[in-house]
Amino acid sequence: MPIDPTQPYDDQNIFAKILRGEIPAKTVYDDDYAVAFHDIAPQAPHHILVIPRGRYVSWDDFSANASDEEIAGFVRAVGAVARAAGVVESGYRLLANVGLDAGQEVPHLHVHIFAGQPLGPMLSR
Ligand code: 5GP
Repeated sequence: MPIDPTQPYDDQNIFAKILRGEIPAKTVYDDDYAVAFHDIAPQAPHHILVIPRGRYVSWDDFSANASDEEIAGFVRAVGAVARAAGVVESGYRLLANVGLDAGQEVPHLHVHIFAGQPLGPMLSR
């Protein structure tokens, strides 16, 4: 079920549990600002999720309320994850679903990195 992006942060969401180490994830990157791990249901040869360590429901929440340091740290982490995955030369796509129409399912900001094959049109037609 898509989430309501205006809801308060839920500490029991699945990515909060991954951040606390309560459930496993195939982590590929970890720093003071962000953690990245493989999506459990990959939709491309590379499908990595990058999440901020802070408690932010969505891109809307993060862009409005995170500190400049958190935003810079997170954006740099997304780039570092893509470089570490070796997908810069072949290309990659970033996606952040926000709220109902986008179908956001997990209420903790996450950026998807897709790569490893031609990714098709931006939106389904
Ligand atoms: P959204 O639709 O919110 O943008 O994307 C949520 C993503 O989280 C989906 O691609 C889904 O496969 C992934 N996901 C959901 N639960 C888990 C989980 O427990 N572990 C991992 N690694 N990914 C998950």
